[in-house]
Amino acid sequence: MIEEEEAVCRIEPPSLDQLLHPTIDPRVERHVIGSGLPASPGAATGEIVFTAEEAVAVEAEGRKVILVRIETSPEDIHGMHAAEGILTTRGGMTSHAAVVARGMGIPCVVGAGSMRVDMRNEVLTGIAGITLRRGDIVTIDGSSGQVLKGAVPMIQPALSGDFGKLMAWADKTRRMSVRTNADTPQDARAARSFGAEGIGLCRTEHMFFEGDRIHDMREMILAEDEAGRRTALAKLLPMQRSDFTELFTIMHGLPVTIRLLDPPLHEFLPKTEDEIADVAAAMGMEPAFLARRIDAIHEFNPMLGHRGCRLAISYPEIAEMQARAIFEAAVAAAETTGEPVELEILVPLVGLRAELDYVKGVIDRVAEDVTAETGRTIAYLAGTMIELPRAAIRAHVIAETAEFFSFGTNDLTQTTFGMSRDDAAAFIPTYQRKGIIERDPFVSLDFDGVGELIRLAAERGRRTRNDLKLGICGEHGGDPASIRFCEDADLDYVSCSPFRVPIARLAAAQAAIDRRNGGVAWMG
Ligand code: PEP
Ligand code: MG
Repeated sequence: MIEEEEAVCRIEPPSLDQLLHPTIDPRVERHVIGSGLPASPGAATGEIVFTAEEAVAVEAEGRKVILVRIETSPEDIHGMHAAEGILTTRGGMTSHAAVVARGMGIPCVVGAGSMRVDMRNEVLTGIAGITLRRGDIVTIDGSSGQVLKGAVPMIQPALSGDFGKLMAWADKTRRMSVRTNADTPQDARAARSFGAEGIGLCRTEHMFFEGDRIHDMREMILAEDEAGRRTALAKLLPMQRSDFTELFTIMHGLPVTIRLLDPPLHEFLPKTEDEIADVAAAMGMEPAFLARRIDAIHEFNPMLGHRGCRLAISYPEIAEMQARAIFEAAVAAAETTGEPVELEILVPLVGLRAELDYVKGVIDRVAEDVTAETGRTIAYLAGTMIELPRAAIRAHVIAETAEFFSFGTNDLTQTTFGMSRDDAAAFIPTYQRKGIIERDPFVSLDFDGVGELIRLAAERGRRTRNDLKLGICGEHGGDPASIRFCEDADLDYVSCSPFRVPIARLAAAQAAIDRRNGGVAWMG
């Protein structure tokens, strides 16, 4: 009765969430006790627990839990896995909890500033002074950001053949490809099943969140000299190599972008005295020594500190280890699958071409070594994140070295606005209420400012290198309005967390249709 394209345009991409996650029955009355940012879609009900250990213990008894924290850190990963949902009172859309939960497909509400967590007494206080204790039941709605008292009726997701048909129509129509941000084999498998056409961002620091790996990663961060760092790196190399081999094998035939280490320090180091004592015990160190080391490398603003390519420049042995793991894994995976890996290596937080030249020099040298050792030539592209205003402005110069650009719009938003991505949740809702901004720029791209930098960088970069591949891998890569912008800016692909891949496929198709029809809805 209607054309395929019209069918594609009639469906709001975010509504696909209903097919992928449980949602709250719209007919029920909601007893809202707090709200925050809708960080990862879907609804979940469970008993409140306040620590990752409790989450694991209660889940092991067959009960469902909601992990409630002020904010999460890598230590909480096992508890996050065990939880049905995650609630934090601090943090924004790109906080640790938000990014990790989205990757896992677990419902999550972050930055619930109207709620308070008293960790010592294990009490969660909501609006109107309502108090909830460990074991009390709550429901979180990661699609609206609401926190509800008790259990509420849910509608379970169901994927039918109709979904596949609609997606096939969308795929026929779109120009941009849709990749995924995936850091683990599970993410990659899930994303591939949702139709991802490659990995647009593998955050290698996230590969060390699990189990004992965090200790070796911390040992590397805390090392006092190169010898200490090399000892820790030697332990990390085999883990990286086997993870990359698995990722390349799962994604065979599709491009995979691996980003060199970009760990904001505060996400990796223990903070409180208790945490320091635990970590010191696990690492076989004196707590006082660990506390002194943490003090020595303390940064006032870790997001703008010793992260990204700065780390590889200070300590090239880190980039060497990662490049070796990537190339050796590429050789191994190609042997298993019989196909060469379509490999892209991504250098983070570049502002100066000389930074990229330096790190690319390390990568190229390791590639030569691995080629000499294995007798295999390895094809790869070396590119950069564009996530600092200076990189966008100097894109024509950076493109002399970079073979592709990936727009890191989380950091580009943070640095363009001068708003900390971890702290903005404290005032963005007020800005929205007072009409100062319409949308949270960490959720939906700020077209006029950050968008202008993307357009400028795309145009300048392509002036230098007309086949420069352009993609976006910030959280905006899964947001339909931002995807519409990327279509107009002529990007080649968007990359988003696995569960947002179907949304991005549909949004990219709608963007292509709109563009063809001359619609520029996002320009407002
Ligand atoms: C970004 O900054 O947009 C990005 C994708 O990198 P990260 O979120 O890891 O800083
Ligand atoms: Mg970044």
